[in-house]
Parts: sequence; C-alpha cells; structure tokens
Amino acid sequence: MSSGSVVTNRAAIQFPSSCPQCGRDATTTYDVAAHRDIELFVLSYYRFIVFPVPVCRACKRGRVVAEIASVTVGVASILGGGFVVFSLLLNEWRLAAAILAAAVVALGLYVRFRADSDVTWQVLGLRIRWMPGDDMPLAISIRHSAYLRAWLAVNPDARQAADARPAGSG
Ligand SMILES: [Zn+2]
Repeated sequence: MSSGSVVTNRAAIQFPSSCPQCGRDATTTYDVAAHRDIELFVLSYYRFIVFPVPVCRACKRGRVVAEIASVTVGVASILGGGFVVFSLLLNEWRLAAAILAAAVVALGLYVRFRADSDVTWQVLGLRIRWMPGDDMPLAISIRHSAYLRAWLAVNPDARQAADARPAGSG
C-alpha cells in the first residue's frame, strides 16, 4: 500500500468515478470537508469547504457507521469526564478536577474539529486539507496507489507534494 499527497487548487479539482477506498465504481457521493485553521491573534477558528467525492455505497455506509461510533465515543468520554470532574469537586480535589476538566475540553475540541478528517482517512483513504494561499490550494492525501493514479489522470495540473504526511494533523 503506497499513499501520496498532491496539491491543487479549489477551482480545478476533479475526482475519479471510482471509490477511493476499494476501487469499485462509485455509485453515490460522500461530502468530504476540508478544514482551514485561521489565526487571528489569540483566536483561531475553523472554516471548511465540502467536496462531494464519488464513493461506493458499501464504503459510504462504513463512513456513516464510523461517524456515529466516533461521535458516541466522544460524547461518552465528555459525559464520563464531566461526571468525574463533578465528583472530584465534591471531594474538594480541585487541582485534579481542573486538570481533568481541561482534558475533557481538549477532547471535545478534537472531536469537533479533527476526528472528522481522521475518520475519513481511516475509512475512505482520503484526506483533504485546505492550505493558506490566495488561490485556495488544497493538499490531498490519498491512501491507495491505484486511486492516486486515477486521481492524477483527471487532475493533470496537480502536482505531487514532496511533503507526504498522510496521517499528519497539519
Ligand atoms: Zn468503496
């Protein structure tokens, strides 16, 4: 299995008509979101754009199931963490409560912003990152080499990125 990254810009992007995960003919689409982290002094916020990527029905179903599982685990962790924080506060273990509360908040932010793209990488073998730049460059990581070749065939202007970090959090 050899993965790779490619860079293109938003206006030009095309997707092959085969499934990025299993290579079968795509029969539906899955909306893959590309996030961008925008820094404003101490604040940073996310914007995202959505690309309807052709996928097969079986892989789309897998992606939806993974989404439900990831949200369930995230919510359960946050509720469980909140309960422990509350218990520690009742027992006046304030430092432990504060540390755990910070961890729960961090997990909540991860679930909100990053888990989506990690789950898409695991289940569909595709990650789209929206890079800084005027022409909205997109860095696309592709897990399967056959899909990478198919993708390059329909995006002749794209270039392969030297920096291939398929599982990187950017
Ligand atoms: Zn598939």
